[in-house]
Amino acid sequence: MRVYLDYNATAPLRDEARMAIMAALDETGNPSSVHAAGRQAKAKMDQSRRTIAQALSAASGDIVFTSGGTEANNLGVLGLAAANGCTHILVGAVEHTCVHAAAKASGLLVEDIAVNKGGALDLAALAQAIEALPSGAKPLLCLMLANNETGVIQPVQAATQMLHEAGGLVHIDAVQAFGKMPVRLSEIGADSLAVSAHKIGGPLGVGALALACGTKIAPNAHGGGQEFGRRGGTENVPGVAGFAAAVEAAIAELEKSADIAALRDHMQSQLAGLAADIKIFGADVPRLANTLCFAVPDFAAETQLMAMDLAGFAISSGAACSSGKVKASAVMLAMQVPVALASCAIRVSLGALTTRKELDAFVGAWGEALIRARANEAA
Ligand code: PLP
Repeated sequence: MRVYLDYNATAPLRDEARMAIMAALDETGNPSSVHAAGRQAKAKMDQSRRTIAQALSAASGDIVFTSGGTEANNLGVLGLAAANGCTHILVGAVEHTCVHAAAKASGLLVEDIAVNKGGALDLAALAQAIEALPSGAKPLLCLMLANNETGVIQPVQAATQMLHEAGGLVHIDAVQAFGKMPVRLSEIGADSLAVSAHKIGGPLGVGALALACGTKIAPNAHGGGQEFGRRGGTENVPGVAGFAAAVEAAIAELEKSADIAALRDHMQSQLAGLAADIKIFGADVPRLANTLCFAVPDFAAETQLMAMDLAGFAISSGAACSSGKVKASAVMLAMQVPVALASCAIRVSLGALTTRKELDAFVGAWGEALIRARANEAA
């Protein structure tokens, strides 16, 4: 039996997306061409743009398609900073690597804003950082809506209000949140927001940046004026069509969130029954319904990943493995989790197809791996 429990890494392609991709692949046409085939491709882009705009509560003319969440975040961070004369970039300490890297690449002054032990942005630390800016500074805040490792939901509305009152701008990374909870750009009030198709059952390598009405953005990819001059390059029509189909299906499925959370909570209490010293990250704060991140002291993430893979379960850890050494997750460290415990943290992420039977099987196999690890320790 193979059980996939790594939806936050990527989700299985939805049937609706596959059908839309196949249909678009069978049609020839460059959306920039004036003939009928080109107009048909453009119509497909326009329709997909409307679907995604509506899902995000943005205008369709403010959706810029990209090659994924990474590019959408890069465009948001670098494009907003460049077009609006930003002087400083404030980055939440648990942001995805692509956001940290884009901020660094801007060449502007970058400051990390701490999170509290629960994993949510420390709004007092944000207020202090804004306060400490020199007069005339124009900050850009980069903040995720939900964390990829813990699922913890960030106070995006309050943070956005603080930045706007200080004359700054806000870019939101909604890559993990989109399709798992309602994401409405107009309600958050931010200036830009990044999403990605493959996290919600769309194809890999497609994403979008949604902009608030009237937001100025400088392109990162210069070219033939596609995407309203905001991202050059012939559009990935099949990918975009697949993305829109996945969005429709994911939004229709949002009502299942409570059932997914109930499954996750069931698994959480089963695991806690097996290890009294288990630490569940984000248990006491709002988090995504599908995400469970936990650690048991001295039960290394690497050992767990290998044992569970052998038993047929795909899960993940935040720990990065380089040159044979496992490095503790930066997210855990930012949450002040001690290094030893951080290197034991693993993530199980569920989807709408996940069953209770699969989770019970996971808990059984994990419990056996824990007993083996404890026996090895004692030997
Ligand atoms: N932002 C977050 C929070 C993510 O979890 C990911 C993917 O893991 C990304 C950005 C990057 O998205 P993509 O894989 O589409 O480049």
